[in-house]
Amino acid sequence: MKEQLYTIPVMDAYKEDCECPVCSMYKSLENKAIDFTMGPSYMEDDIRAVTDEVGFCNNHIKMLYKNQNRLGLALMLKTHMDKTITDLEKLSASEKVVSTSLFRKKSEAKGVPTYIQTLNHSCFVCNRIEDTYKRYLVTIFYLYKKEAEFRDLFHNSKGLCTTHYADLYQMAPEQLNGEMLQNFMKDLNQIYLENMKRVRDDLDWFIDKFDYRYANEPWKNSQDALPRTIQKTNSVDVE
Ligand SMILES: [Zn+2]
Ligand SMILES: [Zn+2]
Repeated sequence: MKEQLYTIPVMDAYKEDCECPVCSMYKSLENKAIDFTMGPSYMEDDIRAVTDEVGFCNNHIKMLYKNQNRLGLALMLKTHMDKTITDLEKLSASEKVVSTSLFRKKSEAKGVPTYIQTLNHSCFVCNRIEDTYKRYLVTIFYLYKKEAEFRDLFHNSKGLCTTHYADLYQMAPEQLNGEMLQNFMKDLNQIYLENMKRVRDDLDWFIDKFDYRYANEPWKNSQDALPRTIQKTNSVDVE
């Protein structure tokens, strides 16, 4: 089973104290992909041909910029720009732009706009993460099916962010069946909703603490309620 390759990172994420273990798995893949992109690999021709072609998304270009390998990033972006300029020079020269009439559908637009739209939706780092990330999600179902220890970890976890709750919700019917599927859905809905309520209540107390009447009350679990809320609502680690 291919899933067995990924049981360790998935188990490790579920043993972490965090608001979404799937976010944590994604983040570690992301960090590895950023290190790979800024490591010696960018000098290899085959990798460079891909980064020249697909570029980077807005999120990952920021992470690459923060990585401090400014020369590496400059070299990659220089040849990426070279390719964009060459391609668009050719495309724009060969394209005759005519005024759009009511009878021409917008979706017929090809050439320059399509090229740029594809470019804006492609990213070397996203692509590099994608396959392993999908295997990690499948491994969650594999472990749920096979390992009682994992079922306990899942059941006692702090839930998930909304996006990853949706991912698991949608994948479950493809990955499980019968009673196992029903148990998983029950568990999934319960851990997501109970933990959303827990963080919502922490946030509620965080708000109350701004009221002078509660100034001398203890913070309870609310001091970091805002970053934990953002993890749940936006799948982002702001700390
Ligand atoms: Zn998440
Ligand atoms: Zn990306």
